[in-house]
Amino acid sequence: MSADADCLFCKIVAGDVPADVVHSSERTVAFRDINPQAPLHVLVVPRHHEPNAAATASADPLDLAEIAITARAVAAAEGYDDYRLVFNTGAGAQQTVFHTHCHVIAGRESTWPPG
Ligand code: AMP
Ligand code: ZN
Repeated sequence: MSADADCLFCKIVAGDVPADVVHSSERTVAFRDINPQAPLHVLVVPRHHEPNAAATASADPLDLAEIAITARAVAAAEGYDDYRLVFNTGAGAQQTVFHTHCHVIAGRESTWPPG
């Protein structure tokens, strides 16, 4: 589906809910996470609503490619060559918003394995 009337991130994409947008392209919108976990914590979302990364890749692989390219641009714009990308997928993996989003996290030490 293109947009879901009940979806928070669709509302941010449409401009109906305010967000601190740092990057916008034909396919994606990137905005700061409201509860940042690192000095840089941005969410990159496709404009087209799908519930998770795999669904986005199936619906339009170029959307997923654009998310990765946007994430690099967002990190680079704030001086970060190194960053972590996270797609929480499913409630059991801490996904709380069911519109595909990529967390771009940088500016603090990354531990492995992730929590
Ligand atoms: P996830 O838990 O992977 O589904 O990530 C959802 C993220 O969305 C969380 O990190 C939230 O802090 C973030 N979030 C929720 N509401 C907003 C909002 N209105 N603007 C920006 N980020 C939000
Ligand atoms: Zn949505």
